[in-house]
Amino acid sequence: MKSLVCAFIFALSGAEALAQENVIFITIDGARYQEFFKGVRRPKSAGQKRGTRMLPWLDAKAEKNEAFIYGRHRLKNPMLVSNPVNLSKPAYMSLMSGVYEDKCRSNDCENTTRHTIFDSLAEQGFAKKDIAVFASWPGIEEAAESVVGRATRNIGINRYSEPGADPVEQAWIDDYNARAFAEEAPWGEARRDVFTFEVANHYLKRHAPRFLYISFLDTDEWGHKNNYKNYVQSFQDVNHYLEQLEATLASMGDYGKRTSIVITTDHGRNPGPLWYNHSAMLPTAHRVWAAVIPSETWRAQGVKARKKGKFRHVDIRPTLEGLMQVKSVSPVASHGKSLVTH
Ligand SMILES: [Zn+2]
Repeated sequence: MKSLVCAFIFALSGAEALAQENVIFITIDGARYQEFFKGVRRPKSAGQKRGTRMLPWLDAKAEKNEAFIYGRHRLKNPMLVSNPVNLSKPAYMSLMSGVYEDKCRSNDCENTTRHTIFDSLAEQGFAKKDIAVFASWPGIEEAAESVVGRATRNIGINRYSEPGADPVEQAWIDDYNARAFAEEAPWGEARRDVFTFEVANHYLKRHAPRFLYISFLDTDEWGHKNNYKNYVQSFQDVNHYLEQLEATLASMGDYGKRTSIVITTDHGRNPGPLWYNHSAMLPTAHRVWAAVIPSETWRAQGVKARKKGKFRHVDIRPTLEGLMQVKSVSPVASHGKSLVTH
């Protein structure tokens, strides 16, 4: 089966240089455009200078034109969510399906019935180990796949296990599980981002997946607790994860050179003193942002950022698939279009 899949992807790309492209997709829950574009907005609460950046790693890449940023201009080119309520689960569903989400309008929706990127990859023969999701928030369970069980998942407070692990691997897993379970999140039913990242980074090194989705949550939870200092700190912690990801990819030879990274947030938050919440009523929560860091091979091919029009959450799935050089086999075509042109 594996060689068939390779042949298929090769035929699609039509270029050996792009025969096997991988993507890491990252979401940072409820991370506002205000901080993403302008840095710290409430210096007293944050205990940091106004304007202190959230993701300096990304800023440095953007400066060198190695990262593309979307959603900077409020009127000309905003990036908007693709659901009417500015909530997490509908947002994750539209990110995964590429379709505007109007059926799910709360965080209590049952499993998605829409065909997702994971469904599409599984149906094209991608092995379970090659398509993986690691998430802090349990709600990601219902958004990832319409047919559950074809992707590798480790979501919320769940032990990590690895069938057929050798003793060295097993020792790492036991230690990881002990540490991840020892620290309960202040908001209960979720895993802290630091552990989500650690296990995802471990999986990346060990299995070199074709599509890896890492979903962070701490930002939104600190937001709801009206704790700006920790909200900012959690946002800035992602910078450290991105640095570590880059180091991991640099240690993985050709695989690392062929791996693109795409980052976004599921929703914005309110402006001003009500910053800690996000509602359907206040319009700023529907405005988001995104970043694409194309792989070295894509950069060598002259990949460019799409500049025209508005950007939307439904554009993310076609972006991920385009960067992987795979097509969608979903019965409903995405409502969006890729954020990059090539
Ligand atoms: Zn929230």
